[in-house]
Amino acid sequence: METPINLYQNTQSHLNKYSSIVFDSYPPQMGICNGELISQISNPDSPLDIEEFRRQGHMIIDFLADYYQNIEKYPVRSQVDPGYLKSRLADSAPYHPESIETILNDVEKDILPGITHWQSPTHFALFPCSMSIPGFLGEVLSTGFGTVGFNWMSSPAATELENVVMDWFGKMLNLPSSFLFSGGGGGVLQGTTCEAMVATLTAARDQMLRKIGKANIGKLVVYASDQTHFSVQKAAQISGINSNNFRVIQTTKSTNFGLSSDSLHSAINADIDAGLVPLFLCATVGTTVATAVDPLRSICGLAKQHEIWVHVDAAYAGSACICPEFQHFLDGIDGANSFSLNAHKWFFTTLDCCCLWVQDPNALIKALSTKPDYLKNQATDSNRVVDYKDWQIALSRRFRALKLWLVLRSYGIVNLQKFIRNHVKMAKHFEGLIAKNNNFEVVIPRNFSVVCFRLSPFALTGNQKIMSSEEDLNEINRKLLESINSSGRVYMTHGMIGGVYTIRFAVGASLTDYRHVELAWKTIQEHADTLLNDLCV
Ligand code: PLP
Repeated sequence: METPINLYQNTQSHLNKYSSIVFDSYPPQMGICNGELISQISNPDSPLDIEEFRRQGHMIIDFLADYYQNIEKYPVRSQVDPGYLKSRLADSAPYHPESIETILNDVEKDILPGITHWQSPTHFALFPCSMSIPGFLGEVLSTGFGTVGFNWMSSPAATELENVVMDWFGKMLNLPSSFLFSGGGGGVLQGTTCEAMVATLTAARDQMLRKIGKANIGKLVVYASDQTHFSVQKAAQISGINSNNFRVIQTTKSTNFGLSSDSLHSAINADIDAGLVPLFLCATVGTTVATAVDPLRSICGLAKQHEIWVHVDAAYAGSACICPEFQHFLDGIDGANSFSLNAHKWFFTTLDCCCLWVQDPNALIKALSTKPDYLKNQATDSNRVVDYKDWQIALSRRFRALKLWLVLRSYGIVNLQKFIRNHVKMAKHFEGLIAKNNNFEVVIPRNFSVVCFRLSPFALTGNQKIMSSEEDLNEINRKLLESINSSGRVYMTHGMIGGVYTIRFAVGASLTDYRHVELAWKTIQEHADTLLNDLCV
């Protein structure tokens, strides 16, 4: 199988070649020619001594390459007990310096045991946090440049590259042009979806309050489903929404746990009758537990009638929509005000990298901009540039666009689609294995690369083991999952779907291959057999 990670090969010669390209291409009048300046500023007492930087940098890359080479040897879920680290480390920071060799030794000895190995090929927990060579190296490059590109002037390339990659990515997803800079909208890289949610909810709040008056903030209502990620609730708390006005609309199996527009309609009407003001709806494409999809076209249509801001949260599943066969999940997105996905989940771009698009950047800017005198500059005054500090909560910001750019260019759309399809195929394969075994059942049809399953009622009653209520079954599945995770071979997590304790098998780690899916299936069956045998005794 082709994977996004190729283990380390000859880092030394590669980097030497790269550095000579960079420095040789500088104009000689800048004095950075053929490494001359480097030798001038090399200073062992400096926090940025160049030769030490090179030496230690190579060492860390080697360390990580070895880590990936050996990653299957570690228990996927960390097996340490709370507080394990304090007793291993000194009480206070060292007064005298220690060498990188000593420190890396301690990373291996003390830190690695406390790491849950998200990049392990048998990490099937939560959602993936998919790593790749360009994602990692882009991160290194951006950290290496150490820019703080809060406005255009503070690093023009950081802003302009972000403008470009957000339009590229938007086109790949087939978003309406109104979400792109080229069509009057625009995109911004936030750290996480939680931040994107606060930014958009604040924009929606202020837009509405400009219309109905600030005194009416207590009347604003936010809507979500019982499957929506808690980030919208957190955003509502932060942005001053009355906690009684956060509506959680129940979903059912009949809609595969997607939000029903009829239920939403009833909730909106009840609020209007009560004199409240519907404000914001978070719809999800790929909910956190069940990966359910809310029907965007109908709920956006409804929201539009009431001037409700719709944010579409596709934190995990949005990435799949670069494949035409998944784009139907975004049908109706033109009716949404904002849309976000986490490239650090399933787009081979390291944490953190949440991509947020809005149709009306001014709504965001009006809510989030400030204009201190000390940041005044001609570019801002010209109104010809984007100042991203006005699109987010924080001032300072990382050069995240660089890593996304590296990922897009290094793989091209064709390979990114291939990686995603491969994960989906492996999930489908796993789903097939579950479906063939009476002791297990798929709890909800799979949409993407997550399979929701459990030990079935038949596993208990069919074998005349015990009578089972739903609670019994939930408890046994809880035990099964804990037993599997304690083995360290595989890591999966759970969720409650309609009162059913569900084990989630999320494919998406970059190193995962079919043999890891098979290993997981074998491990699951072994632990289930032991558990069921114990029940018989
Ligand atoms: N939305 C959904 C659907 C999620 O599944 C998650 C996390 O898994 C989030 C939002 C939160 O993402 P973040 O950690 O980037 O805030």
